[in-house]
Amino acid sequence: MRIEAPALFGPGVITRGDMDCYRLHKLRSTLLYAGANSSFYREQFRKAGVAPEDIRALADIVKLPFTEPEQIAASPFRFLCLSRSKIARIHTFVTSGTTGPRKKIFWTQSDIDRIVRFITAGIGAVAARGDAVNVWLPTGLPYGQSDLLSRGVKKIGARPVVASMDMSSADHLQLIKESRVTVIFGSTRRIVRLTRELERSHDLSSLGVHTLFLTSEYLPAGMRARLQKTWNCRVSTHYGLTEMGLGVAIECEAGDGYHFNEADILVEIIDPETGLPSMPGSDGELVFTTLTREAMPLIRYRTRDISRLISETCSCGAKALGKFTAVKKRIGVITRIAGGEEIYPALFDEALMEMPGFIDWQAFTYRRNDDGGECLRFRVELAEPRIEKIPEIEKRLLAVPALARSIRTGAMIMPLIEIAAPGELRDSGTGKRII
Ligand SMILES: [Zn+2]
Repeated sequence: MRIEAPALFGPGVITRGDMDCYRLHKLRSTLLYAGANSSFYREQFRKAGVAPEDIRALADIVKLPFTEPEQIAASPFRFLCLSRSKIARIHTFVTSGTTGPRKKIFWTQSDIDRIVRFITAGIGAVAARGDAVNVWLPTGLPYGQSDLLSRGVKKIGARPVVASMDMSSADHLQLIKESRVTVIFGSTRRIVRLTRELERSHDLSSLGVHTLFLTSEYLPAGMRARLQKTWNCRVSTHYGLTEMGLGVAIECEAGDGYHFNEADILVEIIDPETGLPSMPGSDGELVFTTLTREAMPLIRYRTRDISRLISETCSCGAKALGKFTAVKKRIGVITRIAGGEEIYPALFDEALMEMPGFIDWQAFTYRRNDDGGECLRFRVELAEPRIEKIPEIEKRLLAVPALARSIRTGAMIMPLIEIAAPGELRDSGTGKRII
């Protein structure tokens, strides 16, 4: 029996029951397929004493073992469900902010076609025929990030304008003007830098850019408002993960979260400590199961990203699309400082990004020579590198509750703040931010 994916929009929109029935069918066929063809999953199921046939309801998914990112890094070829000759693209990468072995992800041509369809739908939400979309992602290989997005852009009848990652802001401005760019797609940190390096000398609102489409890093609400004002345009964000085929979820127009295609992935939220499902409505780790992947299905893949599912029907009218909240922290980028407090990059982005002229920051933990106490040292890049700005930076850092508490209790002293040279943090664009 062949069951078609239910239509997500339009007349005769499907019910929750139809969608769940479809998802259970897809889950069961994914498990049978992976169990029969991937040596990794065959062994996973055997070790856990569970067979694909044991999964009779969506809730039974908790009987299955998790897939850890380290397992992909350790033996990627064991995930393969097809012979290597059927693989159209091997994506090799290190997740940003982490070190360790490189992961490999495999796609067949039909996986790539599906990914491009998703990207096309995503880009179609912010651009249309006739737009010029500035693609500002790592370039290079066919079916790499830049190439896949460019394909999606062409499919909606728009024109991709590829920018190189090491382009100066002045050259980038020239490209935007000459190519009459109307949409810019790039990482939050890079677009903040571009904006801040240009805004003093140029009127960015007059360039004709109608949308900034941001990816990778968390965007604090205050910075979003500043970007909207400076460019006089709409700002939209998306959530992506290379392991899942880059695009996963797109910010809802009504705000407050990201929609994902329930016909393509199952999303769970678990307590990262116990591995048990989180209470409905509470934060936990995002866990994904692919429902349509051919070369390398992933079952209960732990993303390390912390989010929360939103179960209410969305005010935008999307009935069959699931929704989760913006990912503010990743387990791999949380640092526990003296006094036991947790810090992570989004906290400092919230504190610093809105500061006029702020461009980027990086922090280092170190131990004092005299008493071995733990300290933080911040390097902050500003459009105008002036040490007179240090008191304001200090004040903003002290507004981060976790840091303020550890200073108040004497576990840490006030962080050391240094003003970085112009462009110094440019190359740390995707690297670790608290070292
Ligand atoms: Zn919505």
